[in-house]
Amino acid sequence: MQKETKKIIQESLDALLENDSFLPGLTDRKQAFSSLSAILSTPDKIHKAFLRVPLDDGSVVRIPAFRAQHNDAMGPYKGGIRYHESVNEEEVINLAFLMTLKNALHEVPFGGGKGGIVLNPREYSEKELNLISRKYVRYFADVIGPDKDIPAPDMGSGEREMDWMMAEYKKVHHGTPYLGSFTGKSVVNGGSLGRREATGKGVYFTFRYLLHDYVKANHQLLSNSNNPFAKTTLELYDRPLKMAVQGFGNVGSVAALEAYKCPLIDHKIVAVSDRNITLYNEDGLDIPALIEFTKTNRGDLPSTEEQLQSASIKAEIKERDVLVTLPVDVLLLAALENQIREDNMKDVQARIIIEGANAPTTAEADEYLNERGIVVIPDILANAGGVIVSYFEWLQGRETQFYTEAEVYRLLIEKMQETMDMMLPQYYGDPYALRQNCFIHAVTRLSTVIYRQGKLY
Ligand code: NAD
Repeated sequence: MQKETKKIIQESLDALLENDSFLPGLTDRKQAFSSLSAILSTPDKIHKAFLRVPLDDGSVVRIPAFRAQHNDAMGPYKGGIRYHESVNEEEVINLAFLMTLKNALHEVPFGGGKGGIVLNPREYSEKELNLISRKYVRYFADVIGPDKDIPAPDMGSGEREMDWMMAEYKKVHHGTPYLGSFTGKSVVNGGSLGRREATGKGVYFTFRYLLHDYVKANHQLLSNSNNPFAKTTLELYDRPLKMAVQGFGNVGSVAALEAYKCPLIDHKIVAVSDRNITLYNEDGLDIPALIEFTKTNRGDLPSTEEQLQSASIKAEIKERDVLVTLPVDVLLLAALENQIREDNMKDVQARIIIEGANAPTTAEADEYLNERGIVVIPDILANAGGVIVSYFEWLQGRETQFYTEAEVYRLLIEKMQETMDMMLPQYYGDPYALRQNCFIHAVTRLSTVIYRQGKLY
């Protein structure tokens, strides 16, 4: 596990150790905390396989694949499967750990898991991807399942892959319940309405709630506070804002559309980026037109003048990585890890950063941003919409009763608001950053569960 991750666990446990009201029944507190640290900083299991795949041209390749199972104290392991060439063992372990904390924070009855396949999906045909996805299920068939470990989509995978995988699971475990084996499936295959948009909608909601709804209801309280994050929030409240969105896939495009449509905050999305380029327009980009374009361009934004013209989109094409340092008020990160780091953190101009992606800010950069009073809405708080609606999908699959889209969004927003209402008063009242507050809260809940399950002996 990365040293940053271990540091997070240790800091949260240190904060708890000083709090005598936490688990007062513990006899040897020091020893119990060192046991908790050992449990949380290590995954339960890590499964690795080299998928043997015959390609269309007749050659046979071996593709590395992982499934990390971090902790299942709160419920079956749960987490996406990433299809990306940079996938590696340490990454899946860290992402599985974040899933454990995310579920604990939002009180979703799942543990944390994560999977990955080391490949660039664009280099394979649909038939090959189908085979690779099915092979993944075959190799890990014994360790996944509706009550063991429930994968979902992540970067590079979507409902198509989940449908294939569920079908393979059904074949391997013939005659057993299978609808809950994967979430993020298409609706016709037992997926939930609203799942595809859930993460992006949830990401945007956390921002809107923090900067609009919560401030509106608690203006006086924030004005009386000396907390630097309260000051930043008030500085940006109720004034025109510029926003940039990194990553225009499932999470980024949906969150951008939510921002574009939201009448409560006066903001313009002046920049969006993807794996190729950044598009910039001082007067605001036409987000619906960009989404339409990506549908016919394998998910990519227009990256040439000709493409912009053909789609009647007004924008300047800039280099991909300039997006994070543009002169904007709000930065929404929805691509990869480590996007704000030591070498670019000082050039970041945004005052609010929303982490739609997992771990887009390194520990050093996070510390630096906190010192400057920049509000960072952390990944485990902001991007939990996907796993929350996955939980609804899993429940619907068990009951074979399906909710309407409106019902799904109502339940999603209710759940995310509950967590925000729990975290924000603490955030604006104490010296910790929002990420630390969320980690401390999640670790508290998880540690209580682990203690009560008698795992500290
Ligand atoms: P996706 O594959 O749909 O989209 C990824 C986007 O990022 C694409 O537009 C791609 O072109 C772009 N991109 C890739 N490299 C980039 C770079 N260097 N700079 C700028 N853009 C780049 O993936 P997604 O599902 O939207 O996931 C994005 C992030 O959100 C990941 O970190 C993922 O773990 C996280 N996340 C996703 C979900 C979900 O439900 N999909 C849930 C929680 C967290």
